[in-house]
Amino acid sequence: MHVMIAGAGIGGCAAAWALQRQGFTVTVFERASELREVGAGLSLWSNATRVLRRLELGHVVEELSVGMADGGLYTHTGEQLARNSMQALNDRYGDPNIVVHRADLLQALVAAVGRDNIRTDASCVGVTQSEDAVTLTLKGGDEVTGDVLIGADGIKSTVRGAIGIPLQLRYSGAVGIRGIVTLADSDIAPDEDVYGIYMGEGRHVGLMPLSEGRAYWFVSESAPLGSLPDPDGDRATFSERLAHWPSAISRMIGATPEDAILRNDIYDQRPVSRWCDGRVALLGDAAHATTPNLGQGACQALEDALILAHCLARRSEAPAQALRDYQHQRKRRAYRVVTASWWAGQMFNMANPLLCTLRNLALQKRGDARNVEQLSWLLDEPFALT
Ligand SMILES: Cc1cc2nc3c(=O)[nH]c(=O)nc-3n(C[C@H](O)[C@H](O)[C@H](O)COP(=O)(O)OP(=O)(O)OC[C@H]3O[C@@H](n4cnc5c(N)ncnc54)[C@H](O)[C@@H]3O)c2cc1C
Repeated sequence: MHVMIAGAGIGGCAAAWALQRQGFTVTVFERASELREVGAGLSLWSNATRVLRRLELGHVVEELSVGMADGGLYTHTGEQLARNSMQALNDRYGDPNIVVHRADLLQALVAAVGRDNIRTDASCVGVTQSEDAVTLTLKGGDEVTGDVLIGADGIKSTVRGAIGIPLQLRYSGAVGIRGIVTLADSDIAPDEDVYGIYMGEGRHVGLMPLSEGRAYWFVSESAPLGSLPDPDGDRATFSERLAHWPSAISRMIGATPEDAILRNDIYDQRPVSRWCDGRVALLGDAAHATTPNLGQGACQALEDALILAHCLARRSEAPAQALRDYQHQRKRRAYRVVTASWWAGQMFNMANPLLCTLRNLALQKRGDARNVEQLSWLLDEPFALT
């Protein structure tokens, strides 16, 4: 069986590798002329590291990443509201929680898939299908026919539109600003206890360790859509607003090269009733783009990849049914993440001072044991594969 995949992001490449391991022939079509990820970190929770290990990509977990720091939740004045014990989380859920550079993860996936199986400068512009096959039209007019097509072409997926599922983008009310800093360029010691999430009124900040003496930071700021003019750079406009926050934040931001700072309006996709049509299915952000507040978008794409390959292998004689099985197994959970992440964003970026005080009190009261246990719906084994 020949499986075609539109999009060589983390989701598309993970799916390609998972399918190859099940014996399928896979071709990935990528719009861009080179395979690259943005310069940012990615938190991968134990639900994702479990998938990586199952796909024999344990070296990403063991060698290319660092464990999430104990850190915790803080107010913008640095008062600790809750502490995450990563050891307790790892013990409870069995697989580690890590932070990895996006490019390192993508590179590891591309190496597994094999560069020859990925076509770049190959933008998918149309899809037709019959009972027996699916045909992908590429920009420039080339047509490629295969047995199944997976649309892993991101939040503005073309494949999604081609199978009649509308884009339902929903602006979260926040912009994300992020960057990677070399710790030696800042005056932060590698083992300094600064990592965690800091919450103020209308914004929150995350600091995470990365491999090779680097750290990853992000700022999420409430802002009306279209209020930030410049997609890159412009550090002064937002770091000024963080001047009275714990100094590690401005030290990290200040030591990040201006042109390495990324800014995005944050969207997700409203839940829809289906992700597949005949021999075509969606995966990752194309199916269920989520806000980054739980750090789960890529984790969910990895789960998709594993389950998709499993469903197709189990019913390769009936691919359309296999894709419906995949949708059935994944949809509820992925949308639970979308919803929980949306509300987490509303909570982290709350602007009303009184509500912020109540939020902080509630978080303080919850206690570390409940912090660990409340993640069970997300981090417990979500699938039983035979
Ligand atoms: C600010 C921010 C922080 C985040 N932090 C985290 C985190 O810490 N942890 C986490 O798990 N997730 C996080 N996410 C979410 C995560 O980045 C995404 O969920 C994940 O990258 C989705 O992967 P994907 O492969 O589905 O889509 P994408 O990464 O968007 O890849 C889609 C690929 O398809 C290609 N493409 C697009 N159109 C076409 C076409 N027509 N033809 C061919 N190719 C096409 C694109 O060029 C791209 O290579 C974050 C997201 C944001 C915005």
